[in-house]
Amino acid sequence: MSQSDVRQVDVTLVGGGMSGAVLALSLAALRKPDGSPLAILLLEASPPEQHTHSGFDARAIALSAGTCDALARRGLWPLFAPYCTPITDIHVSDRGHVGQTRLSAAEYDLAALGQVIELAAVGHELQRALAAAPHIRVICPATLHGVVLREEGVTLTLASGEQIDTRLLVAADGGNSFVRQQLRLPIRRLDYEQSAIIATVKTAVDPAGRAFERFTAAGPLALLPMQGGRCSLVWSVNRHEVEALMALDETAFLARLQQAFGWRLGRLERCGVRHVYPLILTACDYPLAQRTVLVGNAAHALHPIAGQGFNLGMRDLDLLTSALTGALAAGDDIGSFKVLNGYWQQRQDDQAQTVWLTSALAQLFANSDDPLVAGRNLALTLMARLPCLKAPLASRTLGFVTDLASRSALKG
Ligand SMILES: Cc1cc2nc3c(=O)[nH]c(=O)nc-3n(C[C@H](O)[C@H](O)[C@H](O)COP(=O)(O)OP(=O)(O)OC[C@H]3O[C@@H](n4cnc5c(N)ncnc54)[C@H](O)[C@@H]3O)c2cc1C
Repeated sequence: MSQSDVRQVDVTLVGGGMSGAVLALSLAALRKPDGSPLAILLLEASPPEQHTHSGFDARAIALSAGTCDALARRGLWPLFAPYCTPITDIHVSDRGHVGQTRLSAAEYDLAALGQVIELAAVGHELQRALAAAPHIRVICPATLHGVVLREEGVTLTLASGEQIDTRLLVAADGGNSFVRQQLRLPIRRLDYEQSAIIATVKTAVDPAGRAFERFTAAGPLALLPMQGGRCSLVWSVNRHEVEALMALDETAFLARLQQAFGWRLGRLERCGVRHVYPLILTACDYPLAQRTVLVGNAAHALHPIAGQGFNLGMRDLDLLTSALTGALAAGDDIGSFKVLNGYWQQRQDDQAQTVWLTSALAQLFANSDDPLVAGRNLALTLMARLPCLKAPLASRTLGFVTDLASRSALKG
């Protein structure tokens, strides 16, 4: 292949799930000093029409108010808005114990604490927007075969034999990131020995904006409000119990769920198809290599207990977009160590703290040892009474981690 056959681009994103798609669309608005747009390439393995697209499957996920703000600032909220349900209250409790606390949007002078979005529907919108964006080329399905880092660029080889030279490589290829493995970037890995069962549940009482996080003997259980009076269930259970729970018919499964969740939403009437996700933490403590940065789940795949995964990822994407905007304005090389390291210096504390917090919560709330149960009940009871203790929980839940001080709405 001659040099002229090698495609030259500014930014290549590997992976077109939530992280890759949102970042590509955010970067499409950037301009080089001569006014021209960035040449952006997105490589995605799953065809868009595929029913089981790994990035946009049957899940509904909770976006914090901070994430919604960031999407709006990047001009992307209209793609999400038709498929979202506002969360106005979050109720946290421990089954069989008195400890409980509640967060409400009104307390923080907000219309909503966040929004629940249906990934499959949003995925279609994002894919449509990517296909329509004039300066984003999407190759899908694409299988990446090789990555060679060089001082002046990264050379990617696809299974088709096509070669691409890119000034900046962004790995958004999920928890089992091929790029991360190729570059041998070390990770911390912790198998929680739990799996999440997810499903859509119809309840007799409309959740009406209320989200519930309940700690049960089997593991933490979340019910998020959805459109049409339905809820999205995320039930993290010990892995050895999953098979038996999945084998139950709908009536028997709903009876087990009702026993674990209680009656706050009346009778649990129907349950859609159940899906299982093994819960394993992977966190890359230094998600950079020459001209390369890992984002989203490729950098940190978290336990879903506090709904932090994409919210943390969005803070990365937002700051990376700002860092590249600044670099372009200053005439800097967007793949240079100076630019990528500057980004990472501002992101590392939030990433480390969020990884630690979710992991600690996952282990604390999966535990049924008496002293730990007593401790977490005390914590929930105190949080309910002392707003100053609730403020850190609120700041994470709302996703306003970096500008908490300026959020006078967070009273405490
Ligand atoms: C049960 C569950 C509940 C969750 N709930 C929440 C929540 O409430 N709130 C929240 O913020 N987050 C939540 N999350 C996390 C959230 O879903 C993810 O953080 C988010 O979807 C971002 O994913 P991503 O795009 O980084 O990775 P992925 O979704 O894994 O996407 C990676 C993409 O890369 C593609 N790909 C992989 N390898 C290659 C390759 N070699 N070449 C090309 N393409 C490739 C894949 O096909 C895929 O499309 C939850 C996660 C789970 C499992």
